[in-house]
Order: sequence, then C-alpha cells, then structure tokens
Amino acid sequence: MPELPEVETTVAGLRPVLEGKRLTLVEPRRADLRRPIPVDLRQRMTGARVTQVTRRAKYGLIETDRGDVMIFHLGMSGRWRIDPGELEKHDHLLLETEENRRLVLNDPRRFGSLDLVRLDDLDSFPAFAAMGPEPLGDAFNGAYLKNATKGRRAPVKQLLLDQHVVAGLGNIYVCEALYMAGIDPRRMGGGISRPRYDRLVSAIKKVLESAIAAGGSSLRDFVKPDGELGYFSKQWLVYGREGEKCACGAPIMRKVDSGRSTFYCEKCQS
Ligand SMILES: [Zn+2]
Repeated sequence: MPELPEVETTVAGLRPVLEGKRLTLVEPRRADLRRPIPVDLRQRMTGARVTQVTRRAKYGLIETDRGDVMIFHLGMSGRWRIDPGELEKHDHLLLETEENRRLVLNDPRRFGSLDLVRLDDLDSFPAFAAMGPEPLGDAFNGAYLKNATKGRRAPVKQLLLDQHVVAGLGNIYVCEALYMAGIDPRRMGGGISRPRYDRLVSAIKKVLESAIAAGGSSLRDFVKPDGELGYFSKQWLVYGREGEKCACGAPIMRKVDSGRSTFYCEKCQS
C-alpha cells in the first residue's frame, strides 16, 4: 500500500514529465474509482498547462494554469507509469503531453480517487479541511504533538494514525518511529512527556526522510522499462519482523488491533 514516501517518490517522478507542459490528451477510461471521476475532468484539463506537481499527505496534486488542481490518491494499489508500451486493463486515466509523453494511472483494486477542485478551494477539499500538519513540516514538532495529544487517553500509536493529529502517517512509519524513539505504542498519548515527544518527532522525520531518499535513489538508479513510479523496497527495524531478535536480544512482538499489526520490542519501548 503506497504510503507518504511512495507518494512523494511518485510526485518526484511525474514532475519532470508534467511541469510546464501542456496536456494534449486527458482521457478517463472509466466513470469511477472509489468515487466518481469528475465528469468535466477531460474538458477542464485538456489543453491546460501543468504549473506544479506537489504532494499533500498521501495525495498528489497536479495544478494547471487554469487554476484547477487534479488531486489523485493511490488507494491500496494505484501506480503511475510513464510511457507505457501497451495500455492495460486497469489503466483508468491516460494523459499525453505536448512532448508526446504518455502517463497512465493504473489501479486494479480501485481504492484510489481522482478529484478536480479550484486552487482557491483546495483548503476546503474534504480530506484536507480538518487535516493536521505535514509530518515533515516545521509546524509538526514536539510542542505541537504534546499539545495535540493533551488529555487524550487513546494509545499514542492510534493518535499518530489520526489524520487530524498529523497528516499522512501510515502504519509502517508509525511502528518504526515509535521503536526508534523507545516509546511503547500502547502508551496513553496524553501521558507522554515533552522530551519524549521531541524524540518521537525527530524519529518520524528521520524514518520518512530515509524512505524518501531510498525512493529517490530508486528513481535515479534504474529506470524500469515500463517507467513504474513510486514503489521501492526498504529494510525495516521492527515492521514485519515478528519473532526475530531485536538488537537488545528480546524477540520482536506483533499485536493485531482492528486488522492492523503493531510491531514492537517490549524491552526497548516503554
Ligand atoms: Zn529491544
């Protein structure tokens, strides 16, 4: 499932192909993904020039010189391909630029989405309206997190996955950061001290930045024949390592809660 670093890597891969380029073809190939694709997407995007490709939480934003923003979410299985050979069954959107570059959005499970909003209305887009700060931005710091979790009795892990607290953090990164910061994922959010939150925020930024760097080097080091963007492999410290030994010698534990796995070390995290 694409997480924030995969979306950042995807956006970095789309940017050189799209930014500053006019779209000569915009072709949705079905009416809906998780929700309907805007019926006027083709008309509003065709002929427009892309001014900027950016990311917000786990959404990619393609802005045009007409003041529109196409917002994509990769859901569970979405991926972009650049200059694909043949179109495939699950290619749901096709773009062509004035340089005859082709881009397709493929999403077999269709949990992703495509939306089109005016740039002026971006902040009121439902997914963004009540969203917390970007985890890599300066507004996300120990003081903020201490305040945002004040009096909260929910486990810290659950709070970090809440989009109102911080935007776009996924399960893997939360497990890894809590391990790096030595904080037990089950600990009550409101009871964690400010210095520990400072350490946690540093760990979150570090684990995201290192994944983004790994994604960036996957873009630079090898261009796959079908130009698939955004997926790369990464070694995790605790995620997916149930039963293996932590550096301290204790076994890495796994706990499943509402279908979501938490990996942690009982000895190193308190
Ligand atoms: Zn340990």
